[in-house]
Amino acid sequence: MINGHTRTCGVFGNPVEHTQSPLIHNHLAEKTGENLVYVPFRIPQGYVGDAVRGAFALNLLGCNVTVPFKSDVIPYLKQIDPLAERIGAVNTLVRVEDGFKGYNTDMPGLYRAFERDGVKIKGEEVLILGAGGVARAVAVLLAEKGASRIVILNRTVDKARSIADEVNAYAGRKLVEVLPLSEYASLGETLGDGSRKKYLVIQATSVGMHPKVEEVLISDKAFYELVHTGYDLIFNPIQTRFMECVQKNGGRAFGGARMLLYQGIIAYELWTGKKISDELADEVYEKMLEALRNKR
Ligand code: NAP
Repeated sequence: MINGHTRTCGVFGNPVEHTQSPLIHNHLAEKTGENLVYVPFRIPQGYVGDAVRGAFALNLLGCNVTVPFKSDVIPYLKQIDPLAERIGAVNTLVRVEDGFKGYNTDMPGLYRAFERDGVKIKGEEVLILGAGGVARAVAVLLAEKGASRIVILNRTVDKARSIADEVNAYAGRKLVEVLPLSEYASLGETLGDGSRKKYLVIQATSVGMHPKVEEVLISDKAFYELVHTGYDLIFNPIQTRFMECVQKNGGRAFGGARMLLYQGIIAYELWTGKKISDELADEVYEKMLEALRNKR
């Protein structure tokens, strides 16, 4: 019940109407007995600094930040977590004494999703499709978690190259390579035992996202023969065409909903100091899937 002790959290975005975050956080609050409500805030372009100051003045406990403010919000923070600084994007604000500290829970969220789905990173050769904001953060995560080789394929090669240069400088070696999207065939390699080399592939482009659910970045069957596991970061639809293509060729496929869930759970843990169990995470996940199915 909302009363005089209720704390408020929310998400800053524009647009913000599609957000799944109120479902995640209000369910967590109910189940963990936290007197907290979570609401969407549509912030006009150019007003994110006012929103941060206003959130502090209104005694908000914390906030999420989504598109298009994840980088724009940084100058208005009192502190920033080193990972968020390295990624250059903040999606979670945690109240501190004189303002907010910024975190990036998207990447730890993806890593927790990988762990829950049984997807291994250490020692893996990984292909990233796309070179936007999320692909950049994924490359940082993969480098930190010990991938043995990372290849970024993107339509605009220069964007992929700038991520590779940055991550290689951080890693201190040539860990990340770049390939034009059309040249994936060069990744095909026959191993000593006659089998084909296969990769973990992370789909980090927006191709195939609702409403253009029929689209897929690469439709050539030969590409999917290179994939042992396909992880699509798109969460709407739940089952993308990319996932279908991977599965048709015998690979394991996962979507982005678990990443979305865990970025929220980690933010909630930062705000409340409570640890969310796998059982409760699974319960919220089912609710999210149900909401996403009903959206279509
Ligand atoms: P972004 O910065 O706009 O980057 C979009 C990427 O998609 C770029 O690499 C772009 O290539 C590529 N792309 C778009 N249309 C294309 C087309 N027609 N053909 C070839 N490439 C195309 O987007 P972002 O913020 O990185 O987000 C990427 C995806 O991650 C989105 O689908 C989003 O839903 C998903 N995401 C998921 C979560 C989660 O929690 N699961 C969180 C955040 C984002 P160019 O560089 O050549 O333009």
